[in-house]
Amino acid sequence: MESSSPATVSAGHGPGPAPADLLGRLRARGAGDPVTHVERVPARAGVPAPWPSWAPEELRAAFTRRGVVAPWQHQAQAATLAYEGDHVVVATGTASGKSLAYQLPALATVLADPRATVLYLAPTKALAADQLRAVAALELEGVRPACYDGDTPRAEREWIRRHSRFVLTNPDMLHHGILPGHAQWSGFLRRLAYVVIDECHTYRGVFGSHVAHVLRRLRRQCARFGATPVFVLASATSGDPATAAGRLTGLPVTAVTEDASPRGGVTFALWEPPLLPPDSGSAPPDSSSVPGQAAGDRSSAPAPGQATGDHDDLRQVRRSALRETADLLADTVAEGVRTLAFVRSRKGAEVVAANARRSLDDAVPGLGDRVAAYRGGYLREERRELERALLHGDLLGLASTNALELGVDLVGLDAVLICGYPGTRASLWQQAGRAGRSGQEALAVLVARDDPLDTYLVHHPEAIFGAPVEATVLDPANRYVLAPQLACAAVEAPLTPADLVLFGDGAKEAVDELVAAGALRQRPTGWYWRHRERPEVDLRGEGGAPVCVVESATGRLLGTVDGGSSHFLLHPGAVYLHQGVSYVVDELDLADGCALVHVEEPDWSTHARDVTDLSVVSVRSYVDAGPVGMFLGEVDVTSQVVSYQRRRIATGEVIDTRPLDLPARELRTVAVWFTLSPQSLALAGVQSADVPGALHAAEHAAIGLLPLMATCDRWDIGGLSTAVHADTEAPTVFVYDGHPGGAGFAERAYGTASAWLRATRDAIAECGCETGCPSCVQSPKCGNGNNPLSKPDAIRVLDVVLANLPE
Ligand SMILES: [Zn+2]
Ligand SMILES: [Zn+2]
Repeated sequence: MESSSPATVSAGHGPGPAPADLLGRLRARGAGDPVTHVERVPARAGVPAPWPSWAPEELRAAFTRRGVVAPWQHQAQAATLAYEGDHVVVATGTASGKSLAYQLPALATVLADPRATVLYLAPTKALAADQLRAVAALELEGVRPACYDGDTPRAEREWIRRHSRFVLTNPDMLHHGILPGHAQWSGFLRRLAYVVIDECHTYRGVFGSHVAHVLRRLRRQCARFGATPVFVLASATSGDPATAAGRLTGLPVTAVTEDASPRGGVTFALWEPPLLPPDSGSAPPDSSSVPGQAAGDRSSAPAPGQATGDHDDLRQVRRSALRETADLLADTVAEGVRTLAFVRSRKGAEVVAANARRSLDDAVPGLGDRVAAYRGGYLREERRELERALLHGDLLGLASTNALELGVDLVGLDAVLICGYPGTRASLWQQAGRAGRSGQEALAVLVARDDPLDTYLVHHPEAIFGAPVEATVLDPANRYVLAPQLACAAVEAPLTPADLVLFGDGAKEAVDELVAAGALRQRPTGWYWRHRERPEVDLRGEGGAPVCVVESATGRLLGTVDGGSSHFLLHPGAVYLHQGVSYVVDELDLADGCALVHVEEPDWSTHARDVTDLSVVSVRSYVDAGPVGMFLGEVDVTSQVVSYQRRRIATGEVIDTRPLDLPARELRTVAVWFTLSPQSLALAGVQSADVPGALHAAEHAAIGLLPLMATCDRWDIGGLSTAVHADTEAPTVFVYDGHPGGAGFAERAYGTASAWLRATRDAIAECGCETGCPSCVQSPKCGNGNNPLSKPDAIRVLDVVLANLPE
């Protein structure tokens, strides 16, 4: 959540040490200087604006009581646009007060028109609950704000539908509850004046495409009742927010991006942990892959609670970012500096907090108590208590997952440590934005993990500080999203030709497919849903139904793993981590969708291997660049998890490889790929025996760098490389979206191909390692155990591509 007030409450203790001095002491600790770059982000004075003349006195007074003396200029501008009926997106920084921009027009309208209603959508229940508190605290008569989500008791639901005029919910509830029950909601929808979409940058990829159609279904129902609500969207700073918001809502949206809130200056350091001396904890090279086989890299996301960035399965070359962050946290806390450390995984946050506590206690017994961990999965009361303790200075250090990115009004810290690039510049700025209380100088440090993207970024500060934040990528035309969404819409009301325009590109084709499949029947009055049951469509579902993880002895449900990852993480014998506890899988029952596990902490980890096959279905677009070809198209990816390795945790030593008997799975998706002629490779000095390793290494690094171009995560993407592919008849590297129907990432890669592969080439070439490391060409999710890989030949491959590809 955002503070809606320019007068943000801040803790009442004195200024911390000057950030530059603090940084100087931190970087002087060890041998060598870990800091690769220091950027000064200047302070900015706020630009207040008068209250808009249309804002009623009652509302101004309510905000003034809450400490808002006057709006900032961007708040007043966005609010007035919305009040005058324009759809608007306000895309400004952390704590710039985006809430006021929609509360002002929405509440003014509710006060002026005793019938008008407002629907507020947040990506999480926690954020909706925070907003409910903020609106309720204004104590405006007749608004009766209420949350309506899965936790709302049945007994209260009818009251809310009838009487609340400010309903706060989430897209899932809109999809599963409100739209299917539109008859009961007709009174509310008929009077709907505003739809507020908070944190709209989180609606990206496949999830975002689903939400885009849920919003079109909402607009359709409103139109049936004669309502045409105004959409007000709030976004973190993002590239081209008007276009993204337009894709999301299907409406023309005006963007307000000029942040007029005040900000303290930030000293932003890029930090690369030192290389470890050779021999410390290195594992023998792995040699178990089959020569000549295509190298496939899976795209399934890791389960929540699984460490994603802390790859324990690779040779450690640099000091781990987790250890480095824990030390920095201990050092800043010892200096009395209020510090927040962002860590990507839940387990990582716990590890950082525990290590920092330990070193502080070693120095001064009891000092460790001033550091805590904070992550999603904690109870709300626990989180509130931690936030309170940090604001009041009882706690000085918090190690958190990005749970803090959403839903919490915690700003004004002296220092922010970011353990590993969070995947996008948008997230990076959002996290760094927590630093700096009421105009004071603050410190932000990005600690690089041992992977190609982080390494590239700490050596290319211009890619962070000189580049605009990413655009939010979503693709409502994805037919794997469009067809099921049209089925949902048809259940709500028969589809008409006008609806095909509303649902946009591909809607007619999708309807024809549904008719051919017997799901819809065409009648003179429209297309009708033919079945009794509603279609089952999960907005966030990916790769099949989730698999439940159940402890055999107690029958306790530990959690779920998405279907796409289940074969990798829950195969028989797999070591599965959940909230810091280690379990071993006894049985994976795919028919029932559950895995039975028992508590056990063996001294090995498990690593599944898969065999991937890819065939080209169609080519959408291509660039013919002489010996090089660049393509975008549809592909079928077939993968089968065939075995797993057990490796010693301490040394990485491979104990054995065990076969598995799991079925193959198919994914129809979108890929970008490039081909090179064998002659051009030979001319560039790549021996034919080294071609597989060259392509495989280029593929890994290209996947690692794609998040620089698109708002995706390395785990959203898969890849495959081969010295000769049956469909292309040439050496080929494929990079594909790991979601059925694609998610827009490969398309983005194709559109920015030369910039993307240039950054990839530079990342490999500039890495200081000899033969390849996790900072350049090794991948934490390689299906082939990072073998074969040839770092120097990967550079030659990319040089050939870049020399031929038009800019
Ligand atoms: Zn390297
Ligand atoms: Zn690989």
